[in-house]
Amino acid sequence: MENYRTKKHLGQNFLKSFSYIQQIIESIPTLPYQLIEIGIGLGDLTQELAKRDSLKAYEVDPDLCSLFRKHFASLITSKRVELIQQDVLEIEQDQGWLHPSEYVLVSNLPYYVATPIILRLLRDSACKYLVVMTQKEVAQKFCAHTKESAFCALSVLAQTFGKPQMLFDVPNTAFEPAPKVTSSVFCIDKIQSTARRDSRFEEFLKTAFCAPRKKLAKNLQKAFKDITSLLDTLHIRDDARPHEVSTEQYHHIYQHIYKEF
Ligand code: SAM
Repeated sequence: MENYRTKKHLGQNFLKSFSYIQQIIESIPTLPYQLIEIGIGLGDLTQELAKRDSLKAYEVDPDLCSLFRKHFASLITSKRVELIQQDVLEIEQDQGWLHPSEYVLVSNLPYYVATPIILRLLRDSACKYLVVMTQKEVAQKFCAHTKESAFCALSVLAQTFGKPQMLFDVPNTAFEPAPKVTSSVFCIDKIQSTARRDSRFEEFLKTAFCAPRKKLAKNLQKAFKDITSLLDTLHIRDDARPHEVSTEQYHHIYQHIYKEF
């Protein structure tokens, strides 16, 4: 593995610190679902996951797939790891995106596609639990609470589909090559979730947060003329900023506008 040249454009920052790998493993609850990993890298996290359970792992880079098959041949032949060479974002179906039945997703996500991957995992009802590492700022957005400055459309979506929770930070020195930024590991528990929301809800949230420091009424007015009286009916202050409104209130506003429950 020593001679492998990392591909920056695929977000290849490999987690080399054994203690952080162990912390990720310890963060995964015991659940009766298929374990899935996105991005095996040099296989350090993958081999520890395989000690815990058999897993299905996706990797876009054919060179890394070949290296893994060579260095971890026994994990492949024993079927402890089912390795799939694939760009996950090219898999079309939304439900049962990475597996046809319920699954738990664990990944040190490539930074450049972390947000679209998490959004697809949120929408996929087969995904029951996620433990993921992303750039710290992205993790903060998914895990923020109402009234915190990081609270945004991603926070509302995370709370709509599950229960997000920030777990721990990982310094850049834990990686090779070291990224410029700090990373964080967080989880989203979707086990109890029955939420059904389509892309129209995401568009609505984009409009609501289009100018995060302006008033929510002003942001939504562009799309919905009667927003001031609707906010009044829902007992939401007309000078509220987008981050001051709760996930539940966003659902109420959406339901009134689209008559969708
Ligand atoms: N799990 C390893 C670790 O913790 O060191 C690697 C993590 S590295 C941040 C992200 C991995 O995802 C890389 O191996 C990269 O090649 C792979 N990857 C990037 N984009 C991908 C995609 N669209 N589909 C599948 N794998 C991808």
